[in-house]
Amino acid sequence: MLGLMQDWPLLMHRIIDHAALYHGRREVVSRSVEGPIHRTNYAQVAARARKVAQRLARDGVKQGDRVATLAWNTWRHLEAWYGITGIGAVYHTVNPRLFPDQIVWIVNDAEDRVIMVDLTFVPLLEQIQDRLPGVERFVILTDAAHMPQTTLRNATCYEEWIGAVDGDFAWAAFDENTAAGLCYTSGTTGSPKGVLYSHRSNVLHAMIACTSGMLGLASSDVVLPVVPMFHANAWSLGHSVPMAGAKLVLPGAKLDGASVHELIVGEGVTFSAGVPTVWFGLLAHLEATGADLGHMTRTVIGGSACPRAMSKAFKERYDVQVMHAWGMTEMSPLGTVCTLKPEVAGLEGDAYFDLMMKQGHSPFGVDMKITDDDGTELARDGKVFGRLKVRGPAVARRYFRHENEEILDADGYFDTGDVGTIDPNGYLQITDRAKDVIKSGGEWISSIDLENLAVAHPDVAEAAVIGVAHPKWDERPLLVIVPKKGALSDPSAVIDFMQGKIAKWWLPDAAVIVDEIPHTATGKIDKVTLRKRLADYRLPGF
Ligand code: AMP
Repeated sequence: MLGLMQDWPLLMHRIIDHAALYHGRREVVSRSVEGPIHRTNYAQVAARARKVAQRLARDGVKQGDRVATLAWNTWRHLEAWYGITGIGAVYHTVNPRLFPDQIVWIVNDAEDRVIMVDLTFVPLLEQIQDRLPGVERFVILTDAAHMPQTTLRNATCYEEWIGAVDGDFAWAAFDENTAAGLCYTSGTTGSPKGVLYSHRSNVLHAMIACTSGMLGLASSDVVLPVVPMFHANAWSLGHSVPMAGAKLVLPGAKLDGASVHELIVGEGVTFSAGVPTVWFGLLAHLEATGADLGHMTRTVIGGSACPRAMSKAFKERYDVQVMHAWGMTEMSPLGTVCTLKPEVAGLEGDAYFDLMMKQGHSPFGVDMKITDDDGTELARDGKVFGRLKVRGPAVARRYFRHENEEILDADGYFDTGDVGTIDPNGYLQITDRAKDVIKSGGEWISSIDLENLAVAHPDVAEAAVIGVAHPKWDERPLLVIVPKKGALSDPSAVIDFMQGKIAKWWLPDAAVIVDEIPHTATGKIDKVTLRKRLADYRLPGF
């Protein structure tokens, strides 16, 4: 017997319609790519998204077609998302920080018909457009006054492009499992792979994100996603913030400490989200200027492990609660957030920060387990670590164009490629990427733990740990340090500083100073490149 409740497909446009109807005057503030601060609201964003949809339909874009964006977080990018999905087409967020060759590969693999592009990236596309034969048109996300001279084929100015239609357009109707968004994984090995979100997965993921154990968004919040919309759906914020009816503040192209701080204070931001690299910049700015963080009370930090020193600085100096989070493109991306369950609510001092080093607990909608290499589930005791596997309605079941390749285990779990522990309260702690864990004498050493410890040294700006070959132990940890300006002549001082804070056999065998640690296009330490750069390194004595 079937239930007798309404069939209300979970479609993306319902989110922006809800925001427009119930929170219509709530502001969407952006630092425009052209420069000035731009103000609009959900009612206007929804109305203009309809124009995007209408215009795409008029240009012959059909359900299932891919429309790429190479764009910063701005109101126009948001309108594009909802407009594209409103006709059943698929927004494909391209990470402009990728190498041009990777962008060419991804756009061709996705078969994007249209590219919507910010002024910043027009020169980049001009260079590679000849290698993108499938792209019919480039829509430049600007107005007529700022439209550049460009060789891009069929280049149109966004404002004129949507200005040519009246917005009298009904969203298309289709199944909630229809594809909505496409995002390629960073692809440190092999070709990047496309993760194809559906309307249903995006809406469910946003609902999950809004819950209080996760991001806990409310219409009274003022949310600043520093994390780009091209980085795994801006961690849901392009969907969950309008769903919650919260004010949205979008940082455009300027992600430096001073610019981010100006928005935080000027717009009354209460909640923000970004990778550690961005927050290093903000904290350095605050230290240099003596400024505070205004009304901000929470910030989500993820993408790579949040160092303890960062969590402490936010809490103790600025009274901002860091919500450490973990996830991945394949998970839409939120997997866990470190918010306080009653079991741990009373923790203080070091015990509190020990907990905050964990990546958090999973919400309803993310099943999580750790297993050994044979797939046998391991204990949730917070000590034993194993391969982290997940399943849920917003987790990938296949990659785009690899529909015949099984990526789930017999119980429907996806192997994240991460290694971690789960404690009896359900809190996950990521030990490492399976590929980065250091295998010393048959035991594993967490590079993340060592990096966290090293950056707590006052003279260290950034640290990375990689395994280097050792004749007896297989691999031993090498600490790679970028010192703060002018500080630290002897890198072994950092190893001395780590003494007594971790097991002795975890201590790095050596430390080297470098000018710069390479990062991936999503801001993570690029260990593949780092290992290549240090391929000739030999531990002292070998
Ligand atoms: P991406 O798909 O580019 O978002 O990358 C996902 C990967 O980033 C995960 O599989 C983890 O290896 C890593 N990651 C994300 N968040 C964290 C975190 N809080 N701590 C450690 N690693 C993280």
